[in-house]
Amino acid sequence: MFISNKMIQAKNLYKKYGNLEVLKNIDLNINKGEVVAIVGPSGAGKTTLLQLLGTLDKPSNSDYQLQINGKDLKKLNDKELSHFRNKNIGFIFQFHQLLPEFTALENVAIPAYINGVNKKEADRKAAELLDLLGLSERKDHKPAKLSGGEQQRVAVARALINNPAVIMADEPSGNLDSENAKQLHKLFFDLRDRFHQTFVIVTHNEELAEMSDRKIIMKDGKIISE
Ligand code: ADP
Repeated sequence: MFISNKMIQAKNLYKKYGNLEVLKNIDLNINKGEVVAIVGPSGAGKTTLLQLLGTLDKPSNSDYQLQINGKDLKKLNDKELSHFRNKNIGFIFQFHQLLPEFTALENVAIPAYINGVNKKEADRKAAELLDLLGLSERKDHKPAKLSGGEQQRVAVARALINNPAVIMADEPSGNLDSENAKQLHKLFFDLRDRFHQTFVIVTHNEELAEMSDRKIIMKDGKIISE
């Protein structure tokens, strides 16, 4: 059996808002286990591209192709798509977006509850991930009681709980000081080495972009260099 090493295959992604063309026919392939940084000036279309790849939004055209982990996403209806997303894609945002009224452990476990994993098993897995990320002492704290770096590591654990095929991150270290940013970047590469995780990361952080396997530079809705 032929097993593809492609995690993401995207062809002809086009997006406009009103008359503004934000993505101009983007083609992009990303391999399994690859850490890819998407860089470029503000307004270049980086976040929009990540949203399309993450199935959080759809292209404006119909003649595009998008496959993730061997699945043709155009064939899925909205319900199937949200199920696919929950199982296959972990998201990390600049502002961690943890739920303030829940503990670190609950925040990490929630995507597993949604995925139908029973509470006991979800909590056990969440605790294991928090432990792996050096947060076992913090699991019963609510986000407001955690430092910025800790909050972001909780968000990483949450992104990992359903063993996603790919992690998509939008400016994950944009709100961290340089020491915490360094630690977070190191964590991404550790996770890649350990779990063969694929990462697609929109970033302004030059150091992270340079560490990545591939740097994709965007400008005016196009990829100008890979
Ligand atoms: P980047 O992440 O590179 O800064 P974005 O993808 O966020 O770029 O935005 C690209 C362009 O699309 C910008 O000009 C932005 O103002 C515009 N844009 C993004 N989202 C929307 C939206 N929901 N409605 C209208 N314009 C948008």
